[in-house]
Formats: sequence, structure tokens, C-alpha cells
Amino acid sequence: MAKLINGKQISAQLLEQVSVQVQQLKDNHGVTPGLAVVLVGEDPASQVYVRNKIHSAAEAGIRSVEHRLSADTSQAALDELIDKLNRDSEIHGILVQLPLPAHLNEDDVIAAIDPLKDVDGFHPLNSGALAAGQSGLVPCTPLGCMIMLQQTHGDLSGMTAVVIGRSNIVGKPMAALLLQANCTVTIAHSRTRDLADVCRQADIVIAAVGRAQLVTEDWIMPGATVIDVGINAIELDGRRKLVGDVDFNSVEPIAGAITPVPGGVGPMTIACLMKNTLSAARMQLSIPD
Ligand code: NAD
Repeated sequence: MAKLINGKQISAQLLEQVSVQVQQLKDNHGVTPGLAVVLVGEDPASQVYVRNKIHSAAEAGIRSVEHRLSADTSQAALDELIDKLNRDSEIHGILVQLPLPAHLNEDDVIAAIDPLKDVDGFHPLNSGALAAGQSGLVPCTPLGCMIMLQQTHGDLSGMTAVVIGRSNIVGKPMAALLLQANCTVTIAHSRTRDLADVCRQADIVIAAVGRAQLVTEDWIMPGATVIDVGINAIELDGRRKLVGDVDFNSVEPIAGAITPVPGGVGPMTIACLMKNTLSAARMQLSIPD
């Protein structure tokens, strides 16, 4: 039976550490980190994510400001808001909840955010820094996965890792972080041949695909660590249920360690957003981490 990597517990510890450091920033420098969360439209999942982020910010002692814009907001109006937030010295982090309505250009919106306030780590300057092994703000989901892996294994040097998925948000930054930790990394995707065989070679499998229960027991080397990033809603016995990209029930008996869905990567992502907001505030105030 696999060790369960408890994202709820690890994220609660991380959030506690962040809140202690936020308090120190307030006491020693008179600064409260500020996070602006921008939500365009009424996507139900996005509304839940935003609510959870605002809640966690309060828990960490971070001041959050929510900007809710209608689904027909123009690119110019969104740019104007981002420009205002970029110049607001009380806002240290800006998060624009994705996906945006189809008429808005996500790349342009991300590029408009001040890289020092880019707490999602999606700005090309931050993704470039990560690819080059330089410091910068790192995307929250892969950062959360790394914290869980490091708690599980300590040093990851020399381990083989397969990342399934090559998005800018999860797959690519995840692979860059694993490479930085001296893993031998393979990035697999929708065109990868013999995906099950590729995964079966790995000490670590990260599934970031968005296909319910795609990864089954025959994809996993016995004893491997499996991190399930996927969040997929399925109908089971007439009820809506959230499952990952990993078929937990078949993989868990043979894996060495595994994250559940829910309660795995999800809460780590939000805790890392708070960690990044604190880091962004420190960077802007030139206070070392
Ligand atoms: P995406 O759609 O941008 O990318 C999916 C990737 O999977 C693509 O690179 C594609 O090549 C690959 N892919 C698609 N079908 C495949 C297949 N059959 N075999 C192999 N590869 C395949 O998605 P994303 O934004 O990277 O998110 C991936 C999943 O992670 C989604 O379920 C999303 O909801 C979830 N997610 C969770 C969190 C969290 O906090 N837990 C955060 C971000 C994303």
C-alpha cells in the first residue's frame, strides 16, 4: 500500500509558516502583503477557486482585494485595471483567474502584469528565468508538487521523472523544477508514443493532463511516487464527483507514494500562492527571503 501524500496537511503547515513570516513583515517593516484577485465572468469553477484563494489569504494575514468584472469586459478595460494594480504600492501580487472569456487574449493579459507582482509565475520573464535556472516567481501548482516530493524523498537527485502534460501552467514548469532538482526528466504529451511504457520507467510520475483516471496500474513501476494534478468532474452513480488523472484505486496498491484527489495538489496550489505573494512583497521591498 502506498504512503498517502497528504496535501491538506502539508499545505496547512506551509500556510502556517507563511502567516508567521507575514506577521514578521508587519512587525519589522510595517507592511502587509496585498493580493489582488481579478475574476472576469461567472465561470462556476473559477468562482470557487477565487473564493478559496481569498479565504486562504485571510488565514495567512494577507490583505486581498477582489475585482469582479463582467464577462463582456474589454481587453482595454482589463489592461487598464492591471496597469492600475501594477502602480498600486499596497498591492504586491496580481492574480488574473484563468481561463478568461474567449474574446480576451490570455497571453497579452499575463504579459501586462508587472513580473515582480506575477504571483502565478506565468509572465514570460518568470517562465524564462525558471527555464534558465534563475530566481523568479514560480507557478504555484508545480511549486506545490515539488514541496510534496521533497517532503516525501528529501533529495531527488538522480531520480527519473515523467511529466504527462506540457502546458505552460503545469507541465513545462514542473519539468523545469524537476530538472533543477537533478532528476532525469521526460515530458510526455498527447503525441507521445507508448505512453504507458514511458511512464513505467519512472521513479516519479506527475499526471497533469485533464483526462479522468487515465493513468492505471500498468503505467506505474512498483514503488514509484505518483503526483496527480488533474481535477476532473465525472458522474458516478448519478452523482457528480471530482477525480484526478490517476485511477487511484488501481494505482494505490502498487505505488510507493501517491497524492489523493481531492486533498492532494489542490490545497498545495493555494498555499503556494500565499507563499509567492509573501515572496513578491519581499522582492518589492528588497528584503531577502
Ligand atoms: P492543459 O489542457 O493546458 O494541458 C494538458 C496537457 O495534457 C497537454 O499538454 C496535452 O498535450 C496533454 N494531453 C492531453 N491528452 C493527453 C493524453 N491522452 N495523453 C497524454 N497527454 C495528453 O491542462 P493544464 O492546465 O496543464 O491542466 C491539467 C490538469 O490539471 C487539468 O485537469 C486541470 O484541471 C488540472 N489542474 C489542477 C491544478 C491544481 O491545483 N490541482 C492546477 C492547474 C491545473
